[in-house]
Amino acid sequence: MSTNMHSAIVIGAGISGLKSSIELNKNGIDTIILEARDRLGGRLHTVTTESGLKLDLGASWMHDCLYNPLLKKSIEKGNVKYYFDNGKFTFHDKDLGIVDDNHKLHPVVQEMSDYLQFVCGQLSHSDDVSVKNAALRYLQDKKATLTETQIKLAPQLLRYYEMWIGSSWNVLSARLISGDAHLGRDAMVTNGYRTIYDNELEELYEVVGTRDVVGSYIKLQKVVFAIEFSEETRKICVKTRDYSGNVESFYSDYLICSVPLSVLKLEDKSEKGHIEWNPPLPKTITSKLKGLSYSHLGKVFFEFDSPFWPTDADRFFCIPQNDEQMTYSVQTNANVTFDNLKIDPVLNRTPTPWTLPVLFLNINRGTGKPVILALTSNPLTEYVETHSFEEFWPIFRAGLASISNLQESQVPIAKDVVKSEWNNDPYARGSYLGCAVGDLIDEALEALTDAQDIFDGRGRVRFVGEALAEQGNGCAHGAWMTAARESEKIVKLANRGKL
Ligand SMILES: Cc1cc2nc3c(=O)[nH]c(=O)nc-3n(C[C@H](O)[C@H](O)[C@H](O)COP(=O)(O)OP(=O)(O)OC[C@H]3O[C@@H](n4cnc5c(N)ncnc54)[C@H](O)[C@@H]3O)c2cc1C
Repeated sequence: MSTNMHSAIVIGAGISGLKSSIELNKNGIDTIILEARDRLGGRLHTVTTESGLKLDLGASWMHDCLYNPLLKKSIEKGNVKYYFDNGKFTFHDKDLGIVDDNHKLHPVVQEMSDYLQFVCGQLSHSDDVSVKNAALRYLQDKKATLTETQIKLAPQLLRYYEMWIGSSWNVLSARLISGDAHLGRDAMVTNGYRTIYDNELEELYEVVGTRDVVGSYIKLQKVVFAIEFSEETRKICVKTRDYSGNVESFYSDYLICSVPLSVLKLEDKSEKGHIEWNPPLPKTITSKLKGLSYSHLGKVFFEFDSPFWPTDADRFFCIPQNDEQMTYSVQTNANVTFDNLKIDPVLNRTPTPWTLPVLFLNINRGTGKPVILALTSNPLTEYVETHSFEEFWPIFRAGLASISNLQESQVPIAKDVVKSEWNNDPYARGSYLGCAVGDLIDEALEALTDAQDIFDGRGRVRFVGEALAEQGNGCAHGAWMTAARESEKIVKLANRGKL
């Protein structure tokens, strides 16, 4: 029998692919992983800087601490360091500095969030609007009860939602956004999310009886470009290409596909990562994939000689400046609506500081290191990825000056800057599942989760990953849970021996 013949093949060595392989191998189903990149982990990506700092370019929090299974396992293992960074959180405005409670902005923003949840959450798919348009509607409706400062600042504060997903408020769906809240606190991992991934790897070592898994159980640099099913042999054939262009075929009875939906939905064969299915994926799936968007959260770590920002706070949100068109239309009752965009706008010139939201996370608080992390949403994420430090530094310097109560000229130049590049990574194509106006998330996830009509209709192909999570959607633990759920289905199928 060919060594390329296995009971199951998993595509992708992110956390969902790894968990799938553990569960299948544990249940006696001989399984290998085929991974396009030359490294493990997918969107769990810890890098070590020259000064020895471990920085997470992908996931860094264990969210949903009320039920997060990765937190539970981390506690059992005792080797994951983390701290809860839901402490002091300050909000900064270009002109006002720290926004204090005198303006009673937070209750207004809370009311706007309630408006999103209880009013916009009831909108039909076709009536869906962007968060920006929803903010405008709220202000028009409630302006008699709001101060001038509240009308100007509250909608900009609402843009904090952009930092959850990574897309601009022109794109985010008012109907879908509030269904996205986390359950419980956020535990920020300080010794690298890779430790969590490695704990899973340890489990794989135990299951397969060797630590020598890369090359045998996990094959790197295998870019899957075709998946075929033979009616004659009743086998799935997965075709890969390595970085030298060599093609290799692997065969199996079962397949778990964990590639991000941003990759799965590619239609252009010439795009890196594109997978050609033969027979093609059913229309019930491909049509739904078209109706999904991907988000664009970005990270920029700044390392200094010593911290100069307030070290007693966890988070600092730099509120973008007032949208004059919005304020004017509220004040004059002008009948204005903004375009509900499907894709974030692209910045053709250097953005002016304070026009886009930036969330700073004080990494110093949990690690003692002189590091601060900026989270960005599109279009700033795309701008940072494609421009030099000199070009994007002024945007962050302005925010850092404000939170530290310094003149911009007093802000030291960072000694090291590390940025994420997920938008332009062909095997990620963004950060995680988005929620743009008009997205049909539930319908798409149902089509992919229930997928029975692929190949011979026996359920031998399953999809896993963050986007398919019922709980923890978009998150590492959500991805892990989909793997547990879908591999169990294959184990049941294999045990029934009915292929
Ligand atoms: C900037 C950022 C911040 C985040 N922050 C958090 C956070 O704080 N907390 C949290 O819980 N989550 C966070 N996430 C999300 C989290 O990282 C993901 O949900 C999780 O890592 C996804 O795991 P996965 O297995 O579904 O996908 P992936 O990790 O993407 O794994 C899929 C694998 O498939 C491979 N692949 C793709 N195409 C092919 C192909 N054609 N052939 C072979 N292999 C292929 C990829 O290389 C990849 O390794 C963040 C993500 C980003 C980008």
